[in-house]
Amino acid sequence: ESCEGREMLEFRRSLPAYKEKDAVLAAISQNQVVIISGETGCGKTTQIPQFILESEVESVRGGACSIICTQPRRISAMSVSERVASERGETLGESVGYKVRLEGVKGRDTHLLFCTTGILLRRLLVDRNLKGVTHVIVDEIHERGMNEDFLLIVLKELLPRRPELRLILMSATLDAELFASYFGKAQIIHIPGFTYPVRTHFLEDILEMSGYMLTPYNQIDDYGQEKMWKMSKQAPRKRKSQIASVVEDALKAADLKDYSHQTQESLSYWNPDCIGFNFIEYILYNICEKERPGAILVFMTGWDDISSLKDKLQAHPILGDPSRVLLLACHGSMASSEQRLIFDQPEDGVRKIVLATNIAETSITINDVVFVLDCGKAKETSYDALNNTPCLLPSWISKVSAQQRRGRAGRVQPGECYHLYPRCVHDAFAEYQLPEILRTPLQSLCLQIKSLKLGSISEFLSKALQSPELLAVQNAIEYLKIIGALDENEMLTVLGRHLTMLPVEPKLGKMLLLGAILNCLDPILTVVSGLSVRDPFLTPFDKKDLAEAAKSQFSRDYSDHLALVRAFERWKVAEKVYAGYDYCWKNFLSVQSMKAIDSLRKEFFSLLKDAGLVDANTIDHNIWSYDEHLIRAVICYGLYPGISSIVHNEKSFSLKTMEDGQVLLYSNSVNAREAKIPFPWLVFNEKIKVNSVFLRDSTAVSDSVLLLFGGSLSRGDTDGHLKMLGGYLEFFMKPAVAD
Ligand code: ADP
Ligand code: MG
Repeated sequence: ESCEGREMLEFRRSLPAYKEKDAVLAAISQNQVVIISGETGCGKTTQIPQFILESEVESVRGGACSIICTQPRRISAMSVSERVASERGETLGESVGYKVRLEGVKGRDTHLLFCTTGILLRRLLVDRNLKGVTHVIVDEIHERGMNEDFLLIVLKELLPRRPELRLILMSATLDAELFASYFGKAQIIHIPGFTYPVRTHFLEDILEMSGYMLTPYNQIDDYGQEKMWKMSKQAPRKRKSQIASVVEDALKAADLKDYSHQTQESLSYWNPDCIGFNFIEYILYNICEKERPGAILVFMTGWDDISSLKDKLQAHPILGDPSRVLLLACHGSMASSEQRLIFDQPEDGVRKIVLATNIAETSITINDVVFVLDCGKAKETSYDALNNTPCLLPSWISKVSAQQRRGRAGRVQPGECYHLYPRCVHDAFAEYQLPEILRTPLQSLCLQIKSLKLGSISEFLSKALQSPELLAVQNAIEYLKIIGALDENEMLTVLGRHLTMLPVEPKLGKMLLLGAILNCLDPILTVVSGLSVRDPFLTPFDKKDLAEAAKSQFSRDYSDHLALVRAFERWKVAEKVYAGYDYCWKNFLSVQSMKAIDSLRKEFFSLLKDAGLVDANTIDHNIWSYDEHLIRAVICYGLYPGISSIVHNEKSFSLKTMEDGQVLLYSNSVNAREAKIPFPWLVFNEKIKVNSVFLRDSTAVSDSVLLLFGGSLSRGDTDGHLKMLGGYLEFFMKPAVAD
């Protein structure tokens, strides 16, 4: 055995999970369902699947096992499989493989497959009994993602049909009882962990220690409501954000008499709706200058504030100096090359700072972290079933999350955690986060239930660990009927069946299908890819006007989607002469998003090709129509019934939707800069309730386009619509699933 191999073995044996190896294997052989809980980093994800694999190889079956381990995010499926393969001294595709949407590595001898939860659900679509699979491991169940909750219902129904199948659930928190009682009988194993003590500082402590003064002016960052542009003076009266209202009550009850006057005054200026980039920069600088070595992990809310903070820090004389600081980002949509850097040890004297989303809370372990900064928030989707409106708001994390974040600091030595909010606010946090199934629109889920032939949607969902509101379910079914995916009897239509085969939201799937049929796929691939990545148009707070002006040069036709198509086309040209970065810089475009769109386009294309919907070989070798009206029509076909009417008055216009009444546009919409829009309707991609309801990414359409591509499609007239499209749809869409 090589030296490296021995070292790795020793490392594996040092993990807390190793001590439970025999207990875990015994439990699995004696129970159909086993639940394993243990602190992050104790070795659940990397070790448990290997224990099973190794014991199967040694057993009489001689390795004839097939273990599937699901991860909530594609990035963890990829990074974990790579780690496990390297622990085994193998390359990916030998005994260990992975599969995520549109990508994967798997060989003939692969017995352990890491995949996203979505991939396993997709497999169930064609293989209801998971034939040949011996073990299913569902990881990170404490996150209570919608797909995971859904998968658990499906697996629970499957277990009696497959008595030899083993189900192992893994969780980072001690909520195993909840899952055990869901499955009736299940054995629970807890892996005791070890972490070093972490000194905890809340906001008042940090202010007291450092003497930093918060003022009303030094906390603004390019985050929060400043981004929004008020379409109308009569915008509904601003309500306090959820974030702020929690704080108000908590602060009233706070006891700060042991703190200095300055701290108390500083705290009174604290703006909970901001993250406070200046303050974070100040703390980071102080750690870098004064504290012992060790990586710093900063928990932010999402990709946009990570990237703006990164820009800000890069301009700092010390923090932006690569010979002193290795500044990295860690979020769900980063590239895999960037991903690897996070685990690397920096050179001596260089301090690693990782700006992360809550992905670094439990699914990705960064080894050398000693300092943690926690902004206390996460961007969370929520759903207002009453108004049928999804909301995307930063909200306070739960106590469990705060504890997880703190724990990240004590893995290798005693650590320090800086919570950027007062202790009293922490005490007001909820214990656990609300499961996703209770706070998101359910359209995709309902479509999946139908395609898996799981019977009545509401009946099926009543079997969930926690069932969603009836109204939320009804809204989703209604939506699917309106877009023609389900018929009046809740049965899948031809269109619906095709949509289930495309791993995108139904509205994007519709655009792809019609784009292929009408031969205008090229621009539509850009639109759909653009809507699947984060907004490529950047709006830095201090250069908001410049950025919005830059975007509007791409717009001639009252459409954010068409503006994106143009921006992308020109980027492709610039990129050919190595001027891609320059071009993006000048036009406030995200290089990362452009690249992501480029590769997504290819992926979606090959998907459509595999489905037999296009017969060309490459995107480039085909000249597709750029007819602007056609593209508008396809966009409308996808986004319907996301529609608002444009009401013109003297000097400007206002917008109305049926459910919300007056709505506003995000300030970076090209339509927000127009005084008049010579169309009666706007179709929009997303509406989000912040304080008012805001529309994001809109395209203006005419009456006839709306009638043809939106309206007449509605309510059971799917057949009529198919005929109207000249039977194209049926001709191209050979049934995707054999009945
Ligand atoms: P858990 O799933 O219980 O949170 P993991 O199995 O993911 O724990 O990780 C166990 C240990 O393996 C971690 O504490 C870390 O030290 C190490 N580890 C995991 N992934 C990597 C990686 N990509 N690079 C280096 N070390 C890793
Ligand atoms: Mg894990």
